Amino acid sequence: MSVLPILKWPDPKLSQVCSPLEAITPDVECLAADMLDTMYAAPGRGLAAPQVGVLQRMFVMDTEWKDADPDPIVFINPVLQEVGRDLKTGAEGCLSIPGVTARVTRPAIVEMSWTNLAGEECSARFEGFGAACVQHELDHLNGVVTFDRVSQDDRAALIAEYEAQ
Ligand code: ZN
Repeated sequence: MSVLPILKWPDPKLSQVCSPLEAITPDVECLAADMLDTMYAAPGRGLAAPQVGVLQRMFVMDTEWKDADPDPIVFINPVLQEVGRDLKTGAEGCLSIPGVTARVTRPAIVEMSWTNLAGEECSARFEGFGAACVQHELDHLNGVVTFDRVSQDDRAALIAEYEAQ
């Protein structure tokens, strides 16, 4: 297992739509373990495959580890099933856009389904930070980053802030 380099915006791989994973091979298991190592080392609470240069539909998340025991989840081919009507605006950081947080508005509660590393179909309801996190990571699989989720004015200001670092 190893810590992988994380691509930084505007790397073109962060703007591509990723392909579904066809099968859970030993390579996929290895990538998931490496992505978790990379996420914990960063440190972050979510990491999507394109952020380490792999254009496949997989992300890892552990929203609790900074406050509790590690509880990693590997999401393969995730799909948003149900989206609540209530919206919530929160500050989001991104390991590919270090040093900048964007205020992003998203559904406050979502239901997501995915395949786990054992090949089992899973689904769960997420709210609070978890809801924002799964939507942020799913965005990465569609080539979308936080800069794409804000107004044109906010985008310009955030990019200026990012580039001035
Ligand atoms: Zn991100």
